[in-house]
Amino acid sequence: MHPKSAPLPAVTDDRIYIGLGSNLDDPMLQIQTAVTALQALPHTHVTACSSLWVSKPMGPSDQPDYVNAVVALSSALAPLALLAACQAIEQAQRRIRTRHWGPRTIDLDVLLFGGEQIHLPTLIVPHPGITERGFVLAPLHQIAPDICIAGKSINHWLEKCDRNGLQALDQPILAL
Ligand code: ADP
Ligand code: MG
Repeated sequence: MHPKSAPLPAVTDDRIYIGLGSNLDDPMLQIQTAVTALQALPHTHVTACSSLWVSKPMGPSDQPDYVNAVVALSSALAPLALLAACQAIEQAQRRIRTRHWGPRTIDLDVLLFGGEQIHLPTLIVPHPGITERGFVLAPLHQIAPDICIAGKSINHWLEKCDRNGLQALDQPILAL
């Protein structure tokens, strides 16, 4: 077959997914503010938002519950530029890194970047925790129910993961 007529690999979803989490200083407002900041990035649009979810902390339990959400983006930014933009949003919201998995005003993780596999010292995509964390999988499933991660459906991972007190809140993300 002529190379030009070879079928293209099936692309199920070329969107970028960002996971957000907060457990300090009005977490819902922190997430709203971060989503507004993502929408304001150059050449970037927030195309879908999950509900807000409450989850028990991972790691040290002597900290408040978390609020989590996932948003979908379309963006012309390259992966490292988007990571830098996410870290600038964290800084703007005065995230101070204390201990590993400790409390934070806002955490932005690049979960998926289309179908790209990235293994750089500062950026691993798909995000390494994505297949095990209910607080990522449940909101991601709301906005990408057909997505595949590591060759398996999101439903596969969602059935296996520990939901650990995960609950959807009624409030939508209002910031768009
Ligand atoms: P965590 O999200 O695991 O609590 P941090 O937000 O403090 O930890 O991130 C630690 C480092 O993880 C960052 O400096 C960043 O370079 C790196 N990192 C690797 N892959 C990703 C990713 N997909 N999204 C966000 N950060 C990532
Ligand atoms: Mg992070």
